[in-house]
Amino acid sequence: MSRRISSVVCVLLVLGSAARAQQSSSFTVGSATASPGTTAYGAIAIAAGSDSALSIPVAVIRGVRPGPVVAFVSGSHGTEYTSIIAMQKLIGRIDAKRLGGTVIVAPLVNRPSFESMTPHINPVDRKGMNSAYPGDSTGTQTQRALAAVTQQIVLPADVVVDLHGGDLDEDLRPYSYWFRGGRAAQDSAGLKLALAFGLDHIIVTDVDPSAANAGRTLSTQALQRGKTVLVAEAGRSGVVAPADLNSLVEGSLNVLGELGMLNRKVAHLQHPVWLAGAGARVAADSGGVFFAAVARDTHVKKGQIVGHTTDYLGRPTGDVRAPIDGLVTFIRGVPSMWPRATLVNVAPVLPGPGVWTVAK
Ligand SMILES: [Zn+2]
Repeated sequence: MSRRISSVVCVLLVLGSAARAQQSSSFTVGSATASPGTTAYGAIAIAAGSDSALSIPVAVIRGVRPGPVVAFVSGSHGTEYTSIIAMQKLIGRIDAKRLGGTVIVAPLVNRPSFESMTPHINPVDRKGMNSAYPGDSTGTQTQRALAAVTQQIVLPADVVVDLHGGDLDEDLRPYSYWFRGGRAAQDSAGLKLALAFGLDHIIVTDVDPSAANAGRTLSTQALQRGKTVLVAEAGRSGVVAPADLNSLVEGSLNVLGELGMLNRKVAHLQHPVWLAGAGARVAADSGGVFFAAVARDTHVKKGQIVGHTTDYLGRPTGDVRAPIDGLVTFIRGVPSMWPRATLVNVAPVLPGPGVWTVAK
């Protein structure tokens, strides 16, 4: 490039940036402080209490222009690997120098689950890390951790995206959840993100934000606090499949495009499959061995055999039947079962999303 042309380019760049507002302050979550145009890496420290301390990894990506604060959180179930790896990759895919607003990424809330390969719960205190919000700073490790997530991630965020990945025992088809609380502007903002994210099955879940206990999960806690909320899930049974991984990374980038934080063209889903949030689960009534007879994503009729069980010596103990008509959103992906273990989940297919109704 000649000197003359490069000086013209410089003048244009200066004029372009002067026309846009700049973000000047830094942004801190835990030990991660990001100045504009940078990515900071750190952790939220949970001090020891009645049980051990915990360090929750967090990255903060501070854009150069003002804009929303979006939090991506995964790994409340620490063996839902696809979502955890996707959030790792997402950090590297966002160029802070091209970003408007701020992105918080916490890929692994439940480190003890990841480190000991314990599905569903935090093995330290046996509590669910997506069912004890808003947490309690004087409680056990899960409660202390969720109190910190509420204060340091949920409160400063405008948008909260909760990622899941089909747990070790879940052979799961990908979907998003549209959580609705009956507030029109908040609900339609959430729907836009679900349509932008791109997973073509959307589970519609109506909650009453004013109900006692309505805010026990990350998504409902955020909904209660007026945030725009999205939940997306892809992955299964410990396998990190490239297609699932890609859908979560690209979907998350689509969220940032949809919000105008990244220069990214986003196509909205035109014809998603709508599923009812109140699906029907079949739980095991005893321990033993489970064999699936249908795959995830199979349309089933009420009473149809979807699996069978045996004792440990191979003697049949029963058939497992679909509890309702609908789609198998996930089916048990491993042989082990115990009393109350989920064997299959079937969600009714809806003609459309319908309107919000108070859950009874
Ligand atoms: Zn999960």
